[in-house]
Amino acid sequence: MIAKRIVILGGGVGGIVTANELRRRLPRDHHIVLVEKNAEHATTARQLSFDYLVLALGAELASELIPGLREGAFSFYTFEETQRLQGALDKSNGGNIALVVSALPYKCPGAPHEAALLVADYFRKRGLKDVSVHLYTPEPQPMPVAGPQLGEAVKQMLSSKGITFHPLHKLVSVDAQHQTLAFDGKDPVRYDLLIAIPPHRGPRIVREAGLTNEAGWVPVDRFTLMTKHEHVYAIGDITAIGIPGRWKPDVPMMLPKAGVFAHVQAEIVAHRIADEINGIVPATEFSGAGYCMLEAGEGLAGFAYGDFFAEPSPRLELRDVGRAWHLGKVLFEQWWLSPFGLRKQVLHFALTLGAKILKIPVNV
Ligand SMILES: Cc1cc2nc3c(=O)[nH]c(=O)nc-3n(C[C@H](O)[C@H](O)[C@H](O)COP(=O)(O)OP(=O)(O)OC[C@H]3O[C@@H](n4cnc5c(N)ncnc54)[C@H](O)[C@@H]3O)c2cc1C
Repeated sequence: MIAKRIVILGGGVGGIVTANELRRRLPRDHHIVLVEKNAEHATTARQLSFDYLVLALGAELASELIPGLREGAFSFYTFEETQRLQGALDKSNGGNIALVVSALPYKCPGAPHEAALLVADYFRKRGLKDVSVHLYTPEPQPMPVAGPQLGEAVKQMLSSKGITFHPLHKLVSVDAQHQTLAFDGKDPVRYDLLIAIPPHRGPRIVREAGLTNEAGWVPVDRFTLMTKHEHVYAIGDITAIGIPGRWKPDVPMMLPKAGVFAHVQAEIVAHRIADEINGIVPATEFSGAGYCMLEAGEGLAGFAYGDFFAEPSPRLELRDVGRAWHLGKVLFEQWWLSPFGLRKQVLHFALTLGAKILKIPVNV
């Protein structure tokens, strides 16, 4: 047997799952190399040859694309930014809170609505009365990819918490000094605290390698996840995967950028590569199915399941907001992000939850 080298670029959700799946499916003779730029993982600048390549580099955040955004806005799209935002919220006396989706596409279609609901919940808990939370987005409705029914349900969730939803607002610039937002074709908006989802773009490496489409994302076969180059796959946020129906006049709708898809795609790609190396014709394909739990604040969450490859347009199912979905999401995240394994995390979760219910102050 000739040993193969599989190189995975990016050690986020997609990259780590791919590496783990491959290690499980392939004999030890084959080399699996995971390259990650963050300090927690190995990072070196050198040339690597490969038999198979998996691009799992995610999306780059590019605040600098909108003048004044970096200076004027807080965000929650990296750990450090989330810590800064927490500090700003704690110091805030309320007023006009503007949450802005600064450009499309962005990862996690539910994130801005969840953030608005959680921020409103945060101020309510602090007992501040003079607070108005506004959500601005260039989209015509919440999560247009999920269809009008889900959009309407999210709009109702927002308005039930007193959050004003402003569709079709394309951010042009931020005047940090005068705390003012400029939107394309709209009146300027004053804010007291600005929380923005920064513009996203495909990573520089793949743009410069000529692997991207005009929008800067990597097109792949939507079932096999292979790029235009044989043995080169792309998964997760870096990809451009068209979905049926719900087309703008000339722009196809894209599969949302979400960890749930990165995870499944990683498993599919690992399966296909391992099969090929093991001499089996790969048959596993990505189905376009995924789900999302939408945090609603007050310990509640909603649940949506979607079949995004369904014809003539994606098929979505909704479940009512409830505590079980919130607890399910917390548990799932504990398992998903855990480096120590499910059992330890379940134990941790059960202890924390039990301690909360019994009002026991513990540090587990
Ligand atoms: C606030 C927030 C909430 C979210 N909530 C949900 C949710 O509830 N459900 C859900 O499904 N998804 C959610 N997501 C989206 C989810 O996190 C992403 O879709 C998922 O992480 C994408 O996985 P990925 O592997 O494609 O990219 P990432 O997980 O972003 O991994 C990419 C990795 O590549 C590395 N990298 C980049 N460039 C280089 C380089 N040049 N060299 C080496 N390494 C490099 C990065 O450091 C990173 O570790 C959320 C995202 C955010 C920001």
